[in-house]
Amino acid sequence: MKSANIIWQSLKSFALRLPRQGVALLLITLTSVPMLALRKAPEDTSAANELRLPILMYHQLTKDPRLVSEFCISAEQFAADLDALEKMGYETVSMAQVIAFCESGGSIPAAKPVVISFDDGFESFYAYAFPLLKEHGMRAVLGVIGEEAERFSATEDHRLKYSSCTWTELAEIAASGLVEIESHTWNLHNKKNGRKGAAKKFGESTEDYRTLLTNDVEATQAAYKTHGLPEFSVYVYPYGTFSADSAEILRSLGVRAAFVCDARVNILHAGETEPLMELKRFKRKPGTFCIRE
Ligand SMILES: [Zn+2]
Repeated sequence: MKSANIIWQSLKSFALRLPRQGVALLLITLTSVPMLALRKAPEDTSAANELRLPILMYHQLTKDPRLVSEFCISAEQFAADLDALEKMGYETVSMAQVIAFCESGGSIPAAKPVVISFDDGFESFYAYAFPLLKEHGMRAVLGVIGEEAERFSATEDHRLKYSSCTWTELAEIAASGLVEIESHTWNLHNKKNGRKGAAKKFGESTEDYRTLLTNDVEATQAAYKTHGLPEFSVYVYPYGTFSADSAEILRSLGVRAAFVCDARVNILHAGETEPLMELKRFKRKPGTFCIRE
C-alpha cells in the first residue's frame, strides 16, 4: 500500500506540472482502470476542493441462487460488500452531500467516500438491502421507476423476483434518512418507437424532447408529493442513455445530478457542476467487486 501511495503521489505531482488538457488525459487514463483505481484509492480522497467518488450500481438482490445473474446478486453478497467497504474504510455519502460539494463547496464528511446506488426500485431492495443498510448505518440512493411503483401499489401480486416497492414502502425507506429516493424516469425505462430510455429520438425536435422530459419529471414529482416523498434531485438515465440536450433540459426542471453507466471513478471539484449531470458508476455483477486491502 505504501508503494502504491508513493506512485500515486508522484503521479499527482507530475500531473500538477502538466497543462490542463494533459491533466484531464492523465486522469482519464488513471480512472479508466476501474478496479485498480478503486483498490489504490489514496487516503486523501476528499482533499479540500477535489472529490474522488466511486459510485456502485446494484439492481436486484435475491436469496435464490438460481436467480443470480448480471442484474441480480445474492443478498449475502451484498452483505459481504458492505462489510468489505467498511473494512476498507469507505464511508457512504448522500447525493445531497455530493451536490452541495459541487455547487457550493460543502464539506464531504468522509476520507474515502462512496455512493451506493440501486436501480429500478425493486422490492428486493426493501426486503434485503434496506435492513442491511440500517444495520450498518450506511446510505444508499434508490432510483425508482414511477409507473412501476404505481403499478405494484395497486396489486396484490408481489414476488421479490419481479415486484417493485410500493409507495408505502418507499415512504418508510425515505423516512429512515439513510436512503434518497431518486427518479429512474416515470415511464421511459423501455426501448420503443425509436427511443431508448430517456434519450432523444433520431430527428426529434428539441421542443418535443423538452416536452417529453418535462412530462416525465413532472409526473414523478407530483406522485412523490402525493405519497409523502421528498422532491427528487437525481435523474438515473435508463440504460445510461442521454442526449446533448438532456442535461440542460433536466436542469431547467430542477434536476441537479444524473447517473450514467460508464465504469469510472468520478473526479469532482468544488464549484464545478457540469460533471454532476454525468456521474459514472461501476455496475456490480457477480464476480466484479474487487475492492481489496
Ligand atoms: Zn434500470
